[in-house]
Amino acid sequence: MAGCVLTGQSPAAPAGTNSAAATKKAKAKASERATPTALTTQEPLSPRAPGDFAIAVLPDTQMYTAARNGGKPEMLVAQVEWILSNRASRNIVYVTTEGDISNDGNKIPGQWLRATNALFRLEDPARTGLPEGLPWSAVVGNHDTHFGGTTLFNEFLGTNHFAGRSYYGGFYGTNNDSHYDRFSAGGQDFIVLALTMAAGSDPDLMRWANEVLRANANRQAIVVTHSLLGPAAWPKPAPWTKDGQRIFPALTNNPNLFLMLCGHRHGEGRRLEVLGNGQNVHLVLSDYQAYASGGNGFMRLMEFSPRNQTIRVKTFSPWTKQWTTNADGCFSLAWTGASGSPAQRNGGERQRPQASGPQTSNIQP
Ligand SMILES: [Zn+2]
Repeated sequence: MAGCVLTGQSPAAPAGTNSAAATKKAKAKASERATPTALTTQEPLSPRAPGDFAIAVLPDTQMYTAARNGGKPEMLVAQVEWILSNRASRNIVYVTTEGDISNDGNKIPGQWLRATNALFRLEDPARTGLPEGLPWSAVVGNHDTHFGGTTLFNEFLGTNHFAGRSYYGGFYGTNNDSHYDRFSAGGQDFIVLALTMAAGSDPDLMRWANEVLRANANRQAIVVTHSLLGPAAWPKPAPWTKDGQRIFPALTNNPNLFLMLCGHRHGEGRRLEVLGNGQNVHLVLSDYQAYASGGNGFMRLMEFSPRNQTIRVKTFSPWTKQWTTNADGCFSLAWTGASGSPAQRNGGERQRPQASGPQTSNIQP
């Protein structure tokens, strides 16, 4: 029985709003480390509208690529194959990892071979029907830096690998640890900025991140970084991690920022930050590595609906063929940028209350 019906959100309720069914589920203790109990084989209902598109999220895959704790490389393959099989029908336009692609970073090349055996399928023009494959992002987690840094990460997923692709925007410094992509879908223009583990403690890197977001101010911005939040049961706001405490304030002067995704801490959680200018930023944690079988293939689909002004978030496993119905895995977010890209909507300026203090009007659209 599907317990989560994603029919949209009420403007009056706090963002990250849930359907009544999902809110009821919130009373159930959210899992910090447990296997989800609210499972169904039926996908939660979500009426689609013209212009809808989706982003697939692959949380920490380290137990799959390391074949640990019952995890299997085939679980990551199953995730990617599901994306490929559903790409056209669900209009999946982008895929992001959330760090900890590997478990042992620089030590075991085989873990990267397993990762890329799965993930490189996203790049196949024949499988995707797209000349450059499906745009996707490899994000660095703390485990990807273990045993001597990100040499292996960059050997397999470095700047040379992504160079020349139209969606690949650029990178920080000399490697692909932090980089960004651009894509458009449903009449919306996006930038996805991937920041390496502990990015917030590197002032130069954060300066670059801000420059990138400002230079792409006409694009709605998503930031993906491995550690931002700890788990919590909605409606309790997920607590910041130390990294989150550093990264978030360093990026808040970007009116185009609306969504930040992370993994790392085991479980699920989210929080909404409303900035002084009325800007809503949703922060969302998903990491299933501590679930049964190293995560059992659980992943996320974020369905953006410009017409309904929502992002519907679903959690499911192509491996077990189950969907979760708990309020922390199945919910809708209010998406204020949904009525057109900022450039289309308001001549390059994001709409906001007038009395918002010093404006960032020097940003070039
Ligand atoms: Zn981690």
